[in-house]
Amino acid sequence: MDECSTIMKLMHPHLDGELDVKDSLCAQAHLECCTPCREAFVAERAFLDILRMQLAQPPAPPSVRQRVTASPTRPGRDAPADSPRA
Ligand SMILES: [Zn+2]
Repeated sequence: MDECSTIMKLMHPHLDGELDVKDSLCAQAHLECCTPCREAFVAERAFLDILRMQLAQPPAPPSVRQRVTASPTRPGRDAPADSPRA
């Protein structure tokens, strides 16, 4: 049962691919036969995937936003919506 706490400690290095082969195989073998650890691992990996996706798509740089707001927005000339002469 103590193996679970060991695997929990190995989870992050395992996700980051930082474990050596022996520990990696040990973690893999445990995850295959231990449902709670596997679920925790899958949830953690999904969370890291979301983090990576957000890091891979940085917000628009300030220069782009400046260009957009600096462009003169001219209001269209008044449309004769309510012209008295029909
Ligand atoms: Zn376990």
